[in-house]
Amino acid sequence: MRAARFYGTGRPLVVEDVERPQTTQGHVLVEVSAAGVCGTELHFLDGLLSPARTPITLGHEVAGVVAEVGDGVTEVAVGDRVAIHYFHACGRCRWCRAGDDHLCDAPLGFLAFTTDGGFAEQILVPASAVLPVPDALDLTAAAPLCCSGTTALHAVSVAGVTDGDTAVVYGTGGVGLALVQVLRLAGVRVVAVARSAARLDLARQLGAEVTVDPSREDVAARVREATGGAGADVVFELVGTRETGAAALASLGKRGALVYVGYSFDRVEVDPLALVVPEQRILTSVGNRRAELVEALKLGAAGLLRTTVTTAPLEDVARVLDDLRAGRVVGRAVLIP
Ligand SMILES: [Zn+2]
Ligand SMILES: [Zn+2]
Repeated sequence: MRAARFYGTGRPLVVEDVERPQTTQGHVLVEVSAAGVCGTELHFLDGLLSPARTPITLGHEVAGVVAEVGDGVTEVAVGDRVAIHYFHACGRCRWCRAGDDHLCDAPLGFLAFTTDGGFAEQILVPASAVLPVPDALDLTAAAPLCCSGTTALHAVSVAGVTDGDTAVVYGTGGVGLALVQVLRLAGVRVVAVARSAARLDLARQLGAEVTVDPSREDVAARVREATGGAGADVVFELVGTRETGAAALASLGKRGALVYVGYSFDRVEVDPLALVVPEQRILTSVGNRRAELVEALKLGAAGLLRTTVTTAPLEDVARVLDDLRAGRVVGRAVLIP
């Protein structure tokens, strides 16, 4: 089967023939219908993140159809339409027992980090990793929910927003556009920040009330203006550079929370005094819980969490990654193997 594999930092992904995985006990073989291309892919190429082994097949936003089930699998059947939760938690450690499976101490697998991901014709995953995709939801639209939509739900739960809050979504890639929608559902006013007019247009269509282009306007000043001088209750930082961190901190109001979701090679300077006096907080949000994917699929099927996708064949993965890096992807690029 064809697969797009990562061989190491600074090297382009190689689309090549690899052996089809053998279906083992407790696992299911999924025929991949769609695999979203996430900003994390660029972090691998740049060496900010490193998988546990190389070569490894990337792709962690995967939806498809079950092709084979291994011994002992009873909860899914051949032909089922499924979305894959990319982090396969143990279900037994203290984090899993508390419902925080995204922090699992002993994960069974992690697509594109320790186990082969979905930039391939087929993928083998534990049966516990697959979730049914409702009929109303197209598999191409479901794939990006597996990371971008679900990560947005998790970040909102970390932030603890309330109706009437104002939140800044700093960066409008896949996660940012999902955040705009999830926040609107919670009754939160959204200020979206992005350098691309097309992305800002889309953010506005999805519910952002105010849009700011940081290459032309001062983000903090626009946020103050939009909040009667108070500043934002929450800023979701999806970029993670020194510059965006400074603008995010300057946009916060009293008791405001800066929630880090994105990161880069940069370091961010923090002035404790400036945080302490208005009791501001810095929080972080990593990945998502399996239950949050259940919720994302439900919202997607109800038309409340929309993914805007551009499809491309698997063989075009290098071009798609170049487009993503250059900011030319509006919404999510999805590979079709
Ligand atoms: Zn991702
Ligand atoms: Zn665990």
